[in-house]
Amino acid sequence: MDITAIYPGSFDPATLGHLDIIERASKLFARVVVAISESSNTKRFAFPEEKRLEMLEKIVKPFPNVSVTTFGGLLTSFARSRGSAVLVRGLRAISDFEYEFQMASMNRYLAQEIETVFMMTSPKYHYLSSSIVKEIARLQGDISGLVPPELFEDVRACFPGP
Ligand code: ADP
Repeated sequence: MDITAIYPGSFDPATLGHLDIIERASKLFARVVVAISESSNTKRFAFPEEKRLEMLEKIVKPFPNVSVTTFGGLLTSFARSRGSAVLVRGLRAISDFEYEFQMASMNRYLAQEIETVFMMTSPKYHYLSSSIVKEIARLQGDISGLVPPELFEDVRACFPGP
Protein backbone atom coordinates (compact mmCIF):
# COMPACT_ATOMS: atom_id res chain seq x y z
CA MET A 1 0.00 0.00 0.00
CA ASP A 2 1.08 3.53 -0.74
CA ILE A 3 1.04 5.01 2.77
CA THR A 4 2.27 8.43 3.85
CA ALA A 5 3.10 8.35 7.56
CA ILE A 6 3.35 11.43 9.72
CA TYR A 7 5.94 11.43 12.52
CA PRO A 8 4.97 14.33 14.76
CA GLY A 9 6.92 15.76 17.67
CA SER A 10 8.67 18.70 19.23
CA PHE A 11 12.19 17.62 18.22
CA ASP A 12 13.66 20.17 20.63
CA PRO A 13 16.26 19.07 19.55
CA ALA A 14 16.18 15.95 17.35
CA THR A 15 18.18 13.09 18.88
CA LEU A 16 19.64 9.80 17.68
CA GLY A 17 16.49 8.18 19.11
CA HIS A 18 14.29 10.25 16.79
CA LEU A 19 16.59 9.53 13.85
CA ASP A 20 16.36 5.80 14.55
CA ILE A 21 12.54 5.96 14.40
CA ILE A 22 12.70 8.04 11.19
CA GLU A 23 15.04 5.56 9.52
CA ARG A 24 12.94 2.55 10.52
CA ALA A 25 9.67 4.25 9.49
CA SER A 26 11.18 5.19 6.12
CA LYS A 27 11.57 1.47 5.39
CA LEU A 28 7.96 0.69 6.30
CA PHE A 29 6.09 3.50 4.56
CA ALA A 30 6.15 4.99 1.07
CA ARG A 31 6.70 8.46 2.52
CA VAL A 32 7.39 9.84 5.98
CA VAL A 33 6.59 13.44 6.85
CA VAL A 34 8.37 14.58 10.01
CA ALA A 35 6.00 17.18 11.44
CA ILE A 36 7.44 19.65 13.93
CA SER A 37 4.94 21.20 16.29
CA GLU A 38 4.97 24.96 16.07
CA SER A 39 5.67 27.05 19.12
CA SER A 40 2.64 27.43 21.34
CA ASN A 41 1.63 29.10 24.57
CA THR A 42 1.63 25.83 26.44
CA LYS A 43 5.08 24.57 25.52
CA ARG A 44 8.34 26.49 25.67
CA PHE A 45 11.06 25.32 23.34
CA ALA A 46 14.83 25.85 23.62
CA PHE A 47 15.17 25.90 19.82
CA PRO A 48 12.94 28.11 17.64
CA GLU A 49 10.90 26.23 15.08
CA GLU A 50 13.03 27.42 12.13
CA LYS A 51 16.09 25.96 13.87
CA ARG A 52 14.35 22.67 14.66
CA LEU A 53 13.32 22.49 10.99
CA GLU A 54 16.83 23.27 9.77
CA MET A 55 18.35 20.63 12.07
CA LEU A 56 15.92 17.91 11.00
CA GLU A 57 16.41 18.75 7.33
CA LYS A 58 20.13 18.15 7.77
CA ILE A 59 19.69 14.70 9.27
CA VAL A 60 16.98 13.33 6.96
CA LYS A 61 19.04 14.02 3.82
CA PRO A 62 20.03 10.33 3.41
CA PHE A 63 16.37 9.29 3.20
CA PRO A 64 14.78 10.31 -0.12
CA ASN A 65 11.24 9.44 1.02
CA VAL A 66 11.43 11.56 4.19
CA SER A 67 10.45 15.24 4.30
CA VAL A 68 10.21 17.74 7.14
CA THR A 69 7.70 20.47 7.84
CA THR A 70 6.22 22.43 10.72
CA PHE A 71 2.56 22.33 11.59
CA GLY A 72 0.17 24.21 13.85
CA GLY A 73 -3.33 23.33 15.01
CA LEU A 74 -4.73 19.85 15.27
CA LEU A 75 -2.47 16.99 14.24
CA THR A 76 -5.43 15.08 12.81
CA SER A 77 -6.32 18.06 10.57
CA PHE A 78 -2.72 18.27 9.42
CA ALA A 79 -2.65 14.52 8.68
CA ARG A 80 -5.87 14.79 6.69
CA SER A 81 -4.50 17.76 4.73
CA ARG A 82 -1.54 15.55 3.71
CA GLY A 83 -3.75 12.61 2.82
CA SER A 84 -2.16 10.56 5.59
CA ALA A 85 -3.92 7.91 7.64
CA VAL A 86 -0.96 6.86 9.79
CA LEU A 87 0.71 8.62 12.70
CA VAL A 88 4.01 7.21 13.95
CA ARG A 89 5.08 7.61 17.56
CA GLY A 90 7.99 6.14 19.48
CA LEU A 91 7.74 4.41 22.83
CA ARG A 92 10.65 4.31 25.23
CA ALA A 93 9.30 3.21 28.57
CA ILE A 94 6.11 2.53 30.44
CA SER A 95 6.21 6.17 31.46
CA ASP A 96 5.60 7.16 27.80
CA PHE A 97 2.62 4.86 27.59
CA GLU A 98 -0.01 6.80 29.47
CA TYR A 99 0.49 10.03 27.56
CA GLU A 100 0.77 8.27 24.21
CA PHE A 101 -2.33 6.18 24.94
CA GLN A 102 -4.29 9.33 25.77
CA MET A 103 -3.12 11.16 22.63
CA ALA A 104 -3.77 8.16 20.36
CA SER A 105 -7.25 7.72 21.86
CA MET A 106 -8.07 11.40 21.44
CA ASN A 107 -6.79 11.41 17.87
CA ARG A 108 -8.94 8.36 17.15
CA TYR A 109 -11.95 10.16 18.60
CA LEU A 110 -11.23 13.13 16.33
CA ALA A 111 -10.46 11.12 13.21
CA GLN A 112 -11.49 7.44 13.16
CA GLU A 113 -9.76 6.76 9.86
CA ILE A 114 -6.33 7.69 11.23
CA GLU A 115 -4.29 4.95 12.88
CA THR A 116 -1.47 5.57 15.37
CA VAL A 117 1.41 3.14 14.94
CA PHE A 118 3.92 2.77 17.79
CA MET A 119 7.52 1.79 17.29
CA MET A 120 9.54 0.57 20.25
CA THR A 121 12.77 2.42 20.83
CA SER A 122 15.97 0.62 19.96
CA PRO A 123 17.39 -0.57 23.30
CA LYS A 124 20.47 1.63 22.97
CA TYR A 125 18.27 4.76 22.92
CA HIS A 126 15.75 3.91 25.60
CA TYR A 127 17.26 6.46 28.02
CA LEU A 128 17.47 9.20 25.40
CA SER A 129 15.17 12.23 25.30
CA SER A 130 15.40 15.82 24.08
CA SER A 131 15.16 16.97 27.70
CA ILE A 132 18.16 14.93 28.77
CA VAL A 133 20.15 16.23 25.79
CA LYS A 134 19.36 19.82 26.82
CA GLU A 135 20.32 19.09 30.42
CA ILE A 136 23.67 17.56 29.43
CA ALA A 137 24.38 20.37 26.95
CA ARG A 138 23.50 23.02 29.54
CA LEU A 139 26.00 21.42 31.91
CA GLN A 140 28.61 21.35 29.12
CA GLY A 141 28.64 17.52 29.03
CA ASP A 142 29.45 15.29 26.07
CA ILE A 143 26.48 15.03 23.68
CA SER A 144 28.30 13.05 21.00
CA GLY A 145 26.45 9.76 21.60
CA LEU A 146 23.10 11.50 21.92
CA VAL A 147 22.53 13.63 18.81
CA PRO A 148 23.61 13.16 15.18
CA PRO A 149 27.09 14.64 14.49
CA GLU A 150 25.62 17.23 12.07
CA LEU A 151 23.84 18.79 15.06
CA PHE A 152 26.70 19.02 17.57
CA GLU A 153 27.44 22.64 16.73
CA ASP A 154 23.79 23.74 16.72
CA VAL A 155 23.15 22.18 20.12
CA ARG A 156 26.36 23.49 21.67
CA ALA A 157 25.65 26.98 20.29
CA CYS A 158 22.32 27.00 22.09
CA PHE A 159 24.06 26.36 25.43
CA PRO A 160 27.27 28.38 25.29
CA GLY A 161 28.05 27.94 28.99
CA PRO A 162 29.39 30.39 31.55
P1 ADP B 1 6.53 15.29 21.89
O1 ADP B 1 6.73 16.60 22.61
O2 ADP B 1 5.42 15.32 20.90
O3 ADP B 1 6.50 14.08 22.79
P2 ADP B 1 9.25 14.56 21.15
O4 ADP B 1 10.08 15.31 20.17
O5 ADP B 1 9.71 14.57 22.58
O6 ADP B 1 7.80 15.17 20.97
O7 ADP B 1 9.08 13.07 20.71
C1 ADP B 1 8.46 12.72 19.48
C2 ADP B 1 8.20 11.23 19.45
O8 ADP B 1 9.44 10.54 19.43
C3 ADP B 1 7.45 10.71 20.68
O9 ADP B 1 6.56 9.69 20.28
C4 ADP B 1 8.54 10.14 21.54
O10 ADP B 1 8.07 9.10 22.39
C5 ADP B 1 9.48 9.61 20.48
N1 ADP B 1 10.85 9.49 20.97
C6 ADP B 1 11.59 10.42 21.60
N2 ADP B 1 12.80 9.94 21.95
C7 ADP B 1 12.83 8.65 21.53
C8 ADP B 1 13.79 7.58 21.63
N3 ADP B 1 14.96 7.75 22.25
N4 ADP B 1 13.46 6.39 21.10
C9 ADP B 1 12.26 6.21 20.52
N5 ADP B 1 11.29 7.15 20.40
C10 ADP B 1 11.59 8.36 20.91
